[in-house]
This record gives sequence, C-alpha cells and structure tokens, in this order.
Amino acid sequence: MSRFLSRAAAALQPYTPGEQPRDTHYIKLNTNENPYSPAPEVAAAISAFNASDLRLYPDPTASDFRDAAAAHYGVKPEQVFAGGGSDEVLAYAFMAFSDRGGKVYFPDITYGFYKVYADLFGLKSVLIPLKSDFTVNIEDYFGLNGNIFIANPNAPTGICLETDEIEQILRENPDRLVVVDEAYIDFSDGKSCLRMIDSYDNLLVVHTFSKSRGLAGMRLGLGFGNPELIAGLERIKYSFNPYNLDRVSFAVGIAALGNGEYMREIAAKIIKTRERLREELLMLGFEVLPSSANFLFAKTPELSGAELYNSLKQSGILVRHFDKARIRDFVRITIGTDDEMDIFLDKLRKLL
Ligand SMILES: *Cc1c(COP(=O)(O)O)cnc(C)c1O
Repeated sequence: MSRFLSRAAAALQPYTPGEQPRDTHYIKLNTNENPYSPAPEVAAAISAFNASDLRLYPDPTASDFRDAAAAHYGVKPEQVFAGGGSDEVLAYAFMAFSDRGGKVYFPDITYGFYKVYADLFGLKSVLIPLKSDFTVNIEDYFGLNGNIFIANPNAPTGICLETDEIEQILRENPDRLVVVDEAYIDFSDGKSCLRMIDSYDNLLVVHTFSKSRGLAGMRLGLGFGNPELIAGLERIKYSFNPYNLDRVSFAVGIAALGNGEYMREIAAKIIKTRERLREELLMLGFEVLPSSANFLFAKTPELSGAELYNSLKQSGILVRHFDKARIRDFVRITIGTDDEMDIFLDKLRKLL
C-alpha cells in the first residue's frame, strides 16, 4: 500500500467484481451479463456516430437521453437521472441523502456494493438478516432510523418482493429514503415500483442497461424519483463529475430505449431458459432459490460452493461463489443461451 494513502482510503474494503478473464475459452456465467447482443439499433447508432463530435463535451444535462427514458417509461424528464451505470446512480444516492455517521439499512445478503459505498461515505451499515429461506421480512424495515437500500429482485438470491410489500416499507418510513435497485426487474414479470414515484416522494428507483439490455460494456443507468430527489442527485453530479456520461453512451442509450420490444423478447427467452435450468438442477438434487432474475442461486449437498465453483472453472465454466456466511454453499449461475446451459449441465453431471 502506498504510504501516501489516506487513513480512510487504507481502511476501505473495495468491491470485488466477478472475474473478467482475458482469454475467451470460458463459458461466462459469473457476472449476470446478457448472452444476447444489444438491440440492433445500438450497432446502427455506433456506426452512424460521428467521431468528430467527440471534440465537444457531452451535454451535462443529458436532456436527449433523459427525454427518451421519460418517454419510454411514461414519466417526466425531471423525474429521471442519468448515470454511468446504476452503480454511479447508487453512489450519488448514498452521497446525497445520508449524513456522515448516519445509518443506512439493507439486508445481510444483498448486493455487495451497498456496504462498500456506506464505508466510503462514512455511513454505518445496519445489516438486517433475511429469513432462513432468504426472503425479506418486511416488518423488519418499518420505522427505521436511516435510509434503506433494497435490491428487488435481490442479488445474489434472485428473490423478489411484491410491489405492495415495497409500498408498505415506503409508508412505514415516510421521512426516510427507500432506494429500490431494480437491476433485474425486467426478468420479474411486472414487479417494478416505477409507477409509485408519483405517489411517494421517498422512493428512488434505480435501473441499469447492463443486464436486460445487454449493455454492461457501455455503463448506462437511470434513477427515477420525484423531481426534488432527482435535483439532489444532480447536486452531487455537479459537485463531482458533471460530464458523467459521454456522447457515445447517449447515442447508444437512446437507440436501446427505442426498441423496448427487443429487450422484452430477449428477457423472455432468458426467463424460459432459467425455468428449464431450474427444473434440471432440481432433478439433479440441487436446492434452487426461486429466481425473478437472470441467474439462479443454487446448492448441492454433494459439493461445497467452493468445490463446485473450482470444478466448474476447471471444466471451462465460470460461475460466482461468495465466501460469506450463510451463502458459502451456494453458487450463482448466470443464465446463458440454451446451448451454454446444455454444456453447463453436461459438465455438471460429470462432476456429481
Ligand atoms: C449488476 C448490478 C448493478 C450494477 O449495474 P451497473 O449498471 O452495471 O453499474 C446494480 N445493482 C445490482 C443489484 C446489480 O446486480
């Protein structure tokens, strides 16, 4: 570690992203990327992009992209914030709405970045244990003393709350912000809370283009909330990185939003493959959590999570293993194409 590191920076435990191997011989089922290409309009927008436009700074207000998102989702542009991936939207939400030393609440098993951001911004994380079946007990979230972060569907479990359950949490915390991270919502059969931003000024809904739109390589995310909340995020943006999205990202984002039908088609294919894989894993004696996302969280009595992860890696398949209390026995398997799942099952049968 550099001797120049601040004490705060030295104390951080940064987020560990899933492996991104440089060689391509792995079947990559470890970071919940989409096995299908982004909408064809995206390739067209990139080909049509005029490189000489890159001389100029991008629009710091992200107007065209926000207008496109607002039209697509049926909200007002003032209710939309544009970020470089949803991680950036989440980071700004941590920065904008919690004072140093304050508490933030989230489940003990959830997206690992919440804890990392809380530490980075000097907040106290309060981890609320999920029930033994890894579902959320919503009463645990009533009347809390700080802002609340909920991934819905949750990661890495894939389990989804109903919108009326989220609504109860919103009602029971009228003076607290509830951030609902809907990274996987397009795989969930209509459980989005987006429609509630008009009724609840304490709701921020966060979306990403990385999963259902097949654009993890582009870094595009959106935040939805009432205009004052969005203005709060803008304050942070203009205090940190006003040009947070570049011109290519805007072009790609607008193109992707222009073909919602394509996104729904590939999401439906992934859901179908997910349910088939789930059946197959159950037949092989796995325990599989019910998933509303583009991955399955599963364990077998025959091998530990680490053993399963390692053996699969040796046979050319990357899945995600979290060496963490309560979920050590599980692996998280991203849903790939049907062909990839057949190879995965084949290797798996040989291991067991
Ligand atoms: C993948 C993921 C994100 C991050 O998405 P980006 O938009 O790529 O930054 C956010 N939240 C959850 C729960 C995720 O799984």
